[in-house]
Amino acid sequence: MISFEIPPAVAGTSKMINDFAKIIMRKWARWADDHEHEQVKEWVDTMWNLAKAGMVSSMTGGLSKKKSDKPKVEGEKKPVKYQNVTMAAAVEELSWGDAGLYLAMPFMGLGGAAVAAVGTDEQKEKFLKRFSTADNPCWGAMAITEPNAGSDSAAITTTAALDEKTNEWVLNGEKIFVTQGKSAVEDSEGFVVAWATRDRKAGRAGIKSFVVEHGTPGMKVTKVEEKLGIRASDTASIFFEDCRIPYDNVLGDAEVKEGFKGAMATFDATRPMVAASAIGIGRAALERCQELFAENGGQLRYGINAGKLTSAERDLMMMEAQLKASRLLTWKAAWMADAGIHNNLEASICKAKTGKAITWVANKAVELCGPLGYSKTELLEKWLRDAKINDIFEGTGQINTLVVARRYFGLSGKELK
Ligand SMILES: Cc1cc2nc3c(=O)[nH]c(=O)nc-3n(C[C@H](O)[C@H](O)[C@H](O)COP(=O)(O)OP(=O)(O)OC[C@H]3O[C@@H](n4cnc5c(N)ncnc54)[C@H](O)[C@@H]3O)c2cc1C
Repeated sequence: MISFEIPPAVAGTSKMINDFAKIIMRKWARWADDHEHEQVKEWVDTMWNLAKAGMVSSMTGGLSKKKSDKPKVEGEKKPVKYQNVTMAAAVEELSWGDAGLYLAMPFMGLGGAAVAAVGTDEQKEKFLKRFSTADNPCWGAMAITEPNAGSDSAAITTTAALDEKTNEWVLNGEKIFVTQGKSAVEDSEGFVVAWATRDRKAGRAGIKSFVVEHGTPGMKVTKVEEKLGIRASDTASIFFEDCRIPYDNVLGDAEVKEGFKGAMATFDATRPMVAASAIGIGRAALERCQELFAENGGQLRYGINAGKLTSAERDLMMMEAQLKASRLLTWKAAWMADAGIHNNLEASICKAKTGKAITWVANKAVELCGPLGYSKTELLEKWLRDAKINDIFEGTGQINTLVVARRYFGLSGKELK
């Protein structure tokens, strides 16, 4: 049987975070957008205190030891924990509050997601626990992109050479556009997960991800970007120069020659979360649009012949439909991850659909509200700027569409470029 019901625990989480986002995040949203590169201390401190009280993990389904409700799924032996679904719901609400602040909160972020996806149990224990126990706020970042390798991540040239005398990896190379990279390198007890090749001749098989901890000599921030949107979050270039890390900081099994495949598995977990963040932005734009429509005497007439609707009604209904379709696809991908079902295809489907759909929704919201949509009086113009990134990072719209096409037609990367 198919059920589209939201589990009560997940709905409760959404409500709690929405109340919080309304009060704290919306208060700072405009200020943070106007003051790129300045940290919102009240926000960071609030989130850090909540993390230390165990609230962030239970809000997001992250690293909580607490047992959530575990329904049995027909045909499945193991009960499903709603960790990814809860996380998607939480990310939607936080991004409804403000997507930039959500990315800037002291949290394991994409770096932590990489550890959770491909790390050993010991690595998870060592690196993830600190996001609720460290003395100071800390961030996790993931550094894949390089000046000459973005969409084609197999083309990275950062190297990780093993020094057999000291049993350390020595990293050399440059990473660009690392979300929360500055925070992870400079201000925290966090870490950067960097993709590097152990052996360029081995191609993809040589690529692995390595945890470089805050304070490691040889890792430094060389640039912080000025951006169109998500300006509350820092985006940094990071240089690794003879940067030595312990042997055990290679994620997963160092000996396995399936490095790239393992590293790519991170995206199956993170793409639905990026999609969930986009949905939060789109919902914020749609809801504000609906409010302004109602305040101006507009009424949405559901269930009547489409030909009798006004153009604004049609647009608002289409925005709602796009949002709901995006959410269903995203929750399906997250639910599959929870159920232990391979979701590579679904993670790319939800990301490709949502990145485009929500950029369209946010653009429509600005258009429908006219000058008010374009004015800084409202957050609508900011949501349009914030929305676009979701069609770029964690694989652009084109790249995710390509992944979907390859999987549908059973073609390899070489056969369909
Ligand atoms: C704000 C921000 C934050 C980011 N955060 C991170 C982060 O935390 N960690 C990280 O590693 N990276 C991060 N990135 C980098 C991001 O993931 C890359 O920008 C993205 O993957 C695209 O790579 P690229 O910039 O090299 O573009 P390119 O790969 O050069 O692509 C340029 C254009 O060509 C298209 N294209 C490329 N190949 C194909 C193809 N085969 N078929 C059709 N079209 C194609 C792309 O879709 C795109 O439209 C971030 C980027 C931004 C802007």
